[in-house]
Parts: sequence; structure tokens; C-alpha cells
Amino acid sequence: MLEETQYYFNQAADVLGLSEKVRRILLTPFRVIKVEIITEDDQGQLMHHLGYRIQHNKVRGPMKGGLRFHPTVNEDHAASLASLMTWKTAVVDLPFGGAKGGINCDPTMMSERALHAVTRKFVEQIKEVIGPTLDIPAPDVNTTPKVMGWIMDEYSKYAGFSPGVVTGKPLHLFGSPGREEATGRGLMIVLQEALKDRGQVLSNMTVAMQGFGNVGSHAARLLAAEGAKIVAVGDHKGGVSRADGLPVGDLIDWVQEHRTVQGFPGGNACAGSDVLTWKADVLIPAALGDVLTKDNAHEVQAKIILEGANGPTTPEANEILQKRNVLIIPDILANAGGVTVSYFEWAQNIQQFRWETEQVQKELSKIMRKAYRDVTELAKEKKVDLRTAAFLLGIRRVGQAALSRVHISEDIQF
Ligand code: GLU
Repeated sequence: MLEETQYYFNQAADVLGLSEKVRRILLTPFRVIKVEIITEDDQGQLMHHLGYRIQHNKVRGPMKGGLRFHPTVNEDHAASLASLMTWKTAVVDLPFGGAKGGINCDPTMMSERALHAVTRKFVEQIKEVIGPTLDIPAPDVNTTPKVMGWIMDEYSKYAGFSPGVVTGKPLHLFGSPGREEATGRGLMIVLQEALKDRGQVLSNMTVAMQGFGNVGSHAARLLAAEGAKIVAVGDHKGGVSRADGLPVGDLIDWVQEHRTVQGFPGGNACAGSDVLTWKADVLIPAALGDVLTKDNAHEVQAKIILEGANGPTTPEANEILQKRNVLIIPDILANAGGVTVSYFEWAQNIQQFRWETEQVQKELSKIMRKAYRDVTELAKEKKVDLRTAAFLLGIRRVGQAALSRVHISEDIQF
């Protein structure tokens, strides 16, 4: 995974003509944290986990990025995702750097009490290196507002009242209106802009969705409300399809109860992985990384891929899809709505005021549309695809900020 992020980074670094040394400086994380987490489960048995926080870059502001609770979490993975956060926050021009982390655990096999203990222990282990002006975690795969509330509480034990240490908190605990749906809403805004450029409209689109967690379910709900048809949805257990569009509200209720789309009576059953190659105008991978590979990229039928997940497309698949003229709207642009509303939440927390939902939605829309325009203009100017342009923009903004902080004799251009 790290190699893949570096591959995309290097594509843009080639266009900028960056030296090996500058590339190494930009790619190397500022700090790598790995901690041991020892707790007890409900039966009093010892549990042993490893927690990670990779702080990639802090040139443009406090480091920012989610925490993931998943068995695939390791140093390499977190480093890759941390680097993506640095370029992502720069693409949407937020005053943040990039970080990512998580705990190598399977929360589906743990009680809430056990998860609570592990979360608190993790915060205890990293409390010196996080903070509202240092590094601000947020939700990611399997981490909910509830978990963010625990993090705020544990950190505040040591540092005093600190709502700005973490974003994505519950609404009644200094969370921001609109944060839960933010990544999904951001996806919709960017898709609307891309369709406008192609002379198309959302209400004529069919959409296939892989993953139906926070990102996928909100995106599906918002897209359906605009008239798009969600024709297939898949997750790790199974899939459902319906040519005239799935009833998204009912599907969300079903998933809340059953934790999977599998078995939903309002559609036809299919395999979860089938949705990636489903006949639809738009494909939204909204789960884990590396799902579009050289083995399935040839069979993708969608003309637009909107990357809700981080790193869903391997470089080989990317190349195949580019050659086939599939428009890929890359993760660091497409899914930046989440961290954007995290920024609003943090800004509200440190100033102790509150925005209304309408204001959050309006400002989110402004930022996402500007980022889309910045990236597409750069893509045109440099004659590159949107992913390379997004990396280019991110690297350039980080590079220019870095150069402005110090005196450097060497002539480096971004
Ligand atoms: N985990 C989300 C992401 O990958 C959100 C990060 C944040 O809000 O800080 O962008």
C-alpha cells in the first residue's frame, strides 16, 4: 500500500521535476509511533494489541487524520494513509498537515466494553504527541463518534478540557452538525461538478456502490435524493441490486439492524465483489483499499470512478482504467469532505462557538467545488489525469509552505 501511494506521488513529482532528495524529504514521516496496548477482556483474559500513529507532515498546520480499528492496520498501511492525508488536506487547502493511525484489532469480535478499554489505553500511550495544535485524530474505518467521545474524555484527563483534540465527536459532545454525512456529501458535490463538465446530470445516473458504512450509506442517500439510481450495493458479506434503483432509506434501516446489506428483501442478491464490475454509470468504492486491481479493472463497466475509500485503485488498475478512458476522481479530492467538516468542528471547538447545519453544508460545498476546479484546471494545464493533478497540487502547496518557513540556498521549485 505504501508503495502505491509513493507511485502516485512520484508521478506528480516527475511532472514537477523534483530531485530524489526532495522526494525523500516529502515522503518520510515526521514521526512514527507504535505502542503496545495491554488490556483485559470481559472474561478477565489479557488482550494484546498494537496501536499506531504515523505523523507524516506538519508544515501546513497541526497533523490531521483518522484512526482505523481493523486487522489490516500496520505501520506500512498507516504510513501510506498518513501521507495521503498530507496531500488531501493541502488539496482542499485546510490549515492542517497529515497523519493516520489505528489499532490492529477486529472490533466485530470485541464487546463495546473491551473496545472502550483498548481505546483509552491507546490514548494514554500517545497523549504526549496528540493535541489540538499538534495532531488531531478523527473517525475512519470502524471508529464511530462514540469512540471519538472516549478519546476526548481520556485526553482531557491529562490535558484538561480539550474538545479540539479529536473530531467526529457526537453532536451532544462538541461534534459538528454535518460531520457524519460529510464524506458522503463531499462525494456528491464533486460528482455533480464533474458531471457538469461532461454535460450530464445526476438525476440520469446509475450508481454502483462498494461498501455501505458511514461513507457509502450517506453518499447513497444523498445521491438518491438528487434522483440518481443506486443499482447495486455490496459489502464484505454480500450484495444487493435492483435495476430501477434500490430503496436506500430501507436499505440503511436494514443495515443498521443486520450489519450487512446481504439478505435485504428490497433487491436481488449478488456477490459483494460483483458490484465493482456492475453495469452502472458511476462506481463508488467506499470501503477498503486495493479493491480495483489488474484482475478486475478490464471488467469495470462504469465510466466514472469516484473514490470514496482511501487507496481503492492499485497503480496497475489505474493505468488500465486510464487507457480505457474511465474518469477517476481520486480519493484525495473525492473523499476530502470528511476532513473538511472536521476542520469546521475543530475551528468551532477552539473558539467555543457553533455553526448551523446550513452553514456547514454551504462552506463544505464552497471548499469542495474550489478544490475540484483547482485540480481540473491543473490537470488541463499540465495535461495529466486528475489523480496526478491532485497530487501535484498537494505537493506544491506543502512544498511552497515548507520553503517559506526556512532559509534554503538550494534552488528548489514547486
Ligand atoms: N478518516 C477520514 C479521511 O480519511 C477523515 C479524517 C479527518 O477527519 O481528520 O479523510
